[in-house]
Amino acid sequence: MKTIVYIICDTRSGSTLLGDMLSKSPDVFFGGELQNIGGYLYEKGTGASWNYSCSCGDSLRCCQFWRKILSNRNIMNFDKKFDTLIEWKFNKRFAIRYLISLKKNNYIKKLLKNSCKKRILNNIENLYETIFSIGKSKYIIDSSKRPWQALQIYKYTSFKIKFIYLKRDIKAVTISKLKWDKCQSSIYKQATYFFSTYVYNLICCRMIKMINPHNLMEITYENLTKNPKESISLIFDFLGIENYYFSKYMDCKKGHSIGGTPTRFKKRPIIYDERWKNEIEKMPMLKVLGKYFG
Ligand SMILES: [Zn+2]
Repeated sequence: MKTIVYIICDTRSGSTLLGDMLSKSPDVFFGGELQNIGGYLYEKGTGASWNYSCSCGDSLRCCQFWRKILSNRNIMNFDKKFDTLIEWKFNKRFAIRYLISLKKNNYIKKLLKNSCKKRILNNIENLYETIFSIGKSKYIIDSSKRPWQALQIYKYTSFKIKFIYLKRDIKAVTISKLKWDKCQSSIYKQATYFFSTYVYNLICCRMIKMINPHNLMEITYENLTKNPKESISLIFDFLGIENYYFSKYMDCKKGHSIGGTPTRFKKRPIIYDERWKNEIEKMPMLKVLGKYFG
């Protein structure tokens, strides 16, 4: 049965690595962050630093895979902008409101209801269907990350969906985000980035409870990178895929995925990245926050 595998996680948590590892099966197509396809097509939002190119290095309109997908009439309706992103304003104000809200489940359900857009969900369904028909794969890996996007797809599309919740130490995620935005030295930024990462994590934990446990697997970045062979074998078991091989390298250039870590254009060995442990030594406040909330 055609199955979508949706990776839920925060940014800087290893979803590109996981997607690439799962693409080592002929039954699997790793599409990357499929929620951003509209942004890539119209060159808006994340992706500007690599010219909105596919992991193969070509632009979406030139890439041999995406060119076929995007020329499909179900996808390209030139009267309308093609978009697959379910917008949800996750910002400081939202995070504070969520924390002080007494009925958190109701708060989330209300937001899910308000962010549900039939047109977008229809686009997502058409995109998956077209990838299945052109790519001939049985599984599509969508590493769009956001749990609200995941739940809308779970509720409103007709595909079988399996979820992988990929967790990483929130101190490591915070430091990686600070580095990416080049603001490690600002104490204010350290606190706000940590706070939003912490709340995002709480929301993920709450939202995955809305998924049938049979369709959900939880894994940590630390385990995935320290024991990659064992971890990936457990995930393939969970997905019911027998035909795969294990590679010691992340090598996205061979595939056609959208978005993900900026390092994906180079072949890299799979290693546990613990550089943040040295960097946190220069950030005493973050260390304290991590100790109490991490
Ligand atoms: Zn490509």
